[in-house]
Amino acid sequence: MSRIHLGCIADDFTGATDLANNLVRAGMRVVQTIGVPAGPLGAEVDAVVVALKSRTIPANEAVAQSLEALAWLQGQGAAQIYFKYCSTFDSTPTGNIGPVTEALMDALGTDFTIATPAFPDNKRTVFKGYLFVGDVLLNESGMQNHPLTPMTDANLVRVMQSQTKRQVGLIDHTVVARGESAVRERIAQLRTDGVGVAIVDAVSNDDLLRLGPALKGMPLVTAGSGVAIGLPQNFGIAPSVQASALPPASGLQAVVSGSCSLATNRQVAEFIRLGRPALAIDPLKLAGGADVVGEALAWATPLLNSGPVLVYSTAQPDAVKSVQGQLGVDAAGAMVEHAIAAIAQGLVLAGVRQLVVAGGETSGACVQALGVSQLQIGSQIDPGVPWCHATLQPPASGGLHIALKSGNFGTDDFFTKAFALLA
Ligand code: ADP
Repeated sequence: MSRIHLGCIADDFTGATDLANNLVRAGMRVVQTIGVPAGPLGAEVDAVVVALKSRTIPANEAVAQSLEALAWLQGQGAAQIYFKYCSTFDSTPTGNIGPVTEALMDALGTDFTIATPAFPDNKRTVFKGYLFVGDVLLNESGMQNHPLTPMTDANLVRVMQSQTKRQVGLIDHTVVARGESAVRERIAQLRTDGVGVAIVDAVSNDDLLRLGPALKGMPLVTAGSGVAIGLPQNFGIAPSVQASALPPASGLQAVVSGSCSLATNRQVAEFIRLGRPALAIDPLKLAGGADVVGEALAWATPLLNSGPVLVYSTAQPDAVKSVQGQLGVDAAGAMVEHAIAAIAQGLVLAGVRQLVVAGGETSGACVQALGVSQLQIGSQIDPGVPWCHATLQPPASGGLHIALKSGNFGTDDFFTKAFALLA
């Protein structure tokens, strides 16, 4: 097994897939692991993304998990480490971006790294150190009301400084615009001034591609998924179709959806409008003890030979609120996730080998129920959502093509387009 070039640590599951997708598009062969693997990697790839769920857990636990991931990636020979966080810099004054960054710097014995969540393709840009979401500052974007990580300051130098013992500085757009040597000069100056972490401006993919060469040889890079587009070139890797090659797809097709986001509601409606078979799960029936999983599988199994079927709990906001009012938010969520994961498992046992899962939390539950620990990343269906390939565990066997779509991603025809792309 050859050494991997890039070892990545992502602080959540769908964020890991988003990063993996960008690396594949830039030409790297990528595997995403669910948590830190117990043994060595059994695949020939350029990069591995270890998906953690460390964004909002206590900082000391996030640090411990990230260091465990680092040790495993170093064991695979990773030449450079990439710590991936959200493009809205989701964190609190106590972390976890700052503490994890510093712990990784200490472990790697490095005195300098960059930090930038810029992802222009998704309208996240950084200018003079301020993070914009679309046309507005981060703290006016709705993120100021996030239940777990309210972002009330768009100035990332200040935000990062509040989480970090090291001094935080800025590499601004005038420097990035002048390219690699200007960025390297600025880094040298910042180091002399005692700065350990620099926020980097980027308002376009061109900025990220200009930044890339200046990061060659930097032991640790911390960023959203955007910076990834400029790194593969440092390892002599260019975009290619081979990077996204997956084994040929076969088997039956299905979609399970536990996402109630606007885009998913439109996608469910479009699938039904196209005349494809779709079955809604009723959370209240589930709470009442009915065998909703068994009924869904009995409904789906005879239909699978005629093309993709959809089983969904997706509902409009009023209906979701009503269910949450009766069952409680967490209890309703966990119960529905559990049921959809059991349905996904049953569908796979019935011969489904092409599966689309809608919903971030729902995806986590399904992947766990299917015993999937590793995903080979294939080509993109829509921005941020690639087809992936996994090896199934007993009682199922063989390979599974799986697409994990987080809530608001994908066009309205996503559920039919995904299978057409695989064919
Ligand atoms: P998204 O990516 O759109 O946020 P998630 O899967 O992450 O989707 O989250 C959706 C949450 O809503 C899950 O916990 C899911 O179990 C729950 N849920 C799904 N359908 C319903 C419903 N009809 N009523 C209440 N909760 C639901």
